[in-house]
Amino acid sequence: MKIELTTKSRLGDIDFSNLPFGKHLSDHMLVCHFKNGQWQEPEIRPYGQLEFSYGLHALHYGQAAFEGMKAYRKADGSISMFRPLDNFARLNKSAERLMMPQIPEEIFMNGLKKLLEIDEKWVPSEDDHSLYIRPFMFASSEFIAARQSDDYTFCILTSPVGPYYSGTVKVKIEQEYTRATGGGIGYTKAAGNYGGAFYPTAQAIKEGYNQVIWTDHRDHKFIEESGTMNLMLLVGDTFLTPPLTDRILAGVTRRSIIALIKERGWNIEERPISVEEIVEAARTGNLKEAFGMGTAAVVSQIDTIGHQGTNYTIPAPKDGRAMEIKKMLNDIRLGLVEDTHHWMMDVEIAQPA
Ligand SMILES: *Cc1c(COP(=O)(O)O)cnc(C)c1O
Repeated sequence: MKIELTTKSRLGDIDFSNLPFGKHLSDHMLVCHFKNGQWQEPEIRPYGQLEFSYGLHALHYGQAAFEGMKAYRKADGSISMFRPLDNFARLNKSAERLMMPQIPEEIFMNGLKKLLEIDEKWVPSEDDHSLYIRPFMFASSEFIAARQSDDYTFCILTSPVGPYYSGTVKVKIEQEYTRATGGGIGYTKAAGNYGGAFYPTAQAIKEGYNQVIWTDHRDHKFIEESGTMNLMLLVGDTFLTPPLTDRILAGVTRRSIIALIKERGWNIEERPISVEEIVEAARTGNLKEAFGMGTAAVVSQIDTIGHQGTNYTIPAPKDGRAMEIKKMLNDIRLGLVEDTHHWMMDVEIAQPA
């Protein structure tokens, strides 16, 4: 691996008590090119400008995918990543569907560990803060014919982040626009999935919501996800979440929370949930809690669900199950309880001699 260190760290310019999500990028990045059918030597270098012309394939045809994961500063000061191999596997799943090459595990994992070691000081230690990690791959040939690219570039950027939403969220059940269709690419973190979601999300924001709840592409009768998070409902005494399909992103947070719920002995069902069922449960007070699950926000409590112009209030207790689940996950991440699932992967920091 080639390593070029910055001569001018920006660390001193960062106010760690005010970190808008994704705004500040750490000093270094990993870059690895795929050319002539082969991955080249990975390189860590100062975060900087793209080196491509305007014919850059990814800009024209959207052959690009990303990941989102986090590293935490544990209570003992060490640094640990949460389930990075799951994100590695998912990026390669996205790559397969988008006709991009598979990334070798050594390039991804060794590059990631080295990058975190070099930018170790960028991992915040404040409560509810972490280092967001953004691996991504894009088509990097420079031609404008609508066929798959020949060359690709894999990168990893990192960004210190604070809490994602400052409070609870208001969501609107979206029954006009669709995020993903059957046979499509909804299960991948393809760049274009997000570009297509901005417009309906902006409409919902205009109507006074923070986010949408996506429904199925056919009849808009079944709920799927909330924005860029998987959805969990507590109806009566049972947790409900939609089953994974090719329209739903298989979240690492979702998978982890399902495991914690089962371990705790609570009821959980992964099954189709109709809009009618959730509106009825909200109307009768049977919908006890609702929350989004994802790397960025971890657990994001929903206090209002809007359906065809009517808003239903959902309890968002500070001492309820959502917050208990969030604490269980955070305790594992910060090393405050034993990591019985082996979800954490520590980053070794070589001490200067
Ligand atoms: C990334 C993402 C999620 C959450 O996945 P995590 O692995 O938990 O971060 C859920 N839905 C969509 C659409 C996403 O892009």
